[in-house]
Amino acid sequence: MGRVAYVNGRFVAQRDAQVSIEDRGYQFADAVYEVWSLFGGKLADSEGHFARLERSLGEIAIPMPMSRRALILVLKEAVRRNRVREGLVYLQVSRGVAPRDHPFPKTPVPPAVVITVSAVDRAASEARAAKGVGVVTTPETRWGRCDIKTVGLLPNVLAKQKAREAGAVEAWFVDELGFVTEGGSSNAWIVDRDGRLRTRDTNANILRGVTRRTLMEVIATEGLEVDERPFTPADAHAAREAFITGAGTLVLPVVSVDGKPVGEGKPGPLATKLRRLYIEQAKATAI
Ligand code: PLP
Repeated sequence: MGRVAYVNGRFVAQRDAQVSIEDRGYQFADAVYEVWSLFGGKLADSEGHFARLERSLGEIAIPMPMSRRALILVLKEAVRRNRVREGLVYLQVSRGVAPRDHPFPKTPVPPAVVITVSAVDRAASEARAAKGVGVVTTPETRWGRCDIKTVGLLPNVLAKQKAREAGAVEAWFVDELGFVTEGGSSNAWIVDRDGRLRTRDTNANILRGVTRRTLMEVIATEGLEVDERPFTPADAHAAREAFITGAGTLVLPVVSVDGKPVGEGKPGPLATKLRRLYIEQAKATAI
C-alpha cells in the first residue's frame, strides 16, 4: 500500500499530493512545522510538540488551522491510513495560498496544512545507537547569508507586514551597531545632509541588488559619486533625500522613516532624477 498524505482537508495518495505554487510556505518559508515520533502508532511527547506548534504559529500570527482536538484526530487518522506503528509524523502549517506579496494577505486566507507519515526501522536505529555517531562543527550562520536570494523570507515577511501596519511600504533592517542594512525587498539609500549619495556596502550581510549596481553606473555617468558608508536612521532623518531600489520598486523616493519626514517630506530632486535615468537605462538595455 502506498503512502497517504493529508493536504488541506483531504487524504490523497502521497505520490499525487500537491500544494499550490502560491502557497506561502513555498514562496516565503512563511510556515512552521512539527514532527512527532510514533511508538506503537501513538504520538510521543505529544504535549510538548503541540505546545511548541501553537507557540510557533502564535509568534508569526498564523491561526491554529483547527482545534488541538481536531488536529489530534487528523494526525491519528493519517497514522492509521498509513498503517505505520514505528515512525514519524510530519506536520506543516503555512500562512496559506495568496498572490505573491511579502506582507500577510490583505484578505485573510485559511492556513494550509500538510501531514505526512513515514516508517522508521527501529532495529536499524537501535543498531546505530549502539555504535554511536560522529558530528562535525560548522559556523553559526542561521541566517547570516542575506547575500543569497533565497526564498527563506520569513523575517522579510514579518518586517514588511510591520511596515504595512504602520502605513509604510518598506521596512529597513537595522543591524546590531545601529546601521541600516537594506530593506525587506529593496536596497536603502540616502542623500545625506552634505549632499552625498550613500548606500550600504556589499561586504555587509545584504543582497547585492542588481538595480543598486546599475544605478551606480548611472550615477557615475552623471559624474556623481556614491559613498558606500553605513548610515543610521538618525542620518536618514537628517538627510536631504532617501530612496529604495529594487526590480519591483525601481528607484522609489522615500519621504518618511519611522513616521518622521526625510528632507521636506516629499520626493527629492535627485531621487526623482535617478528614477528617470534608471528607467531610461533599463529600457535601453532590456533584451
Ligand atoms: N534586498 C532584498 C532583501 C530584496 O529582496 C531585493 C529584491 O527583491 C533587493 C534588495 C533589490 O534587489 P534587485 O535590485 O536585484 O531587485
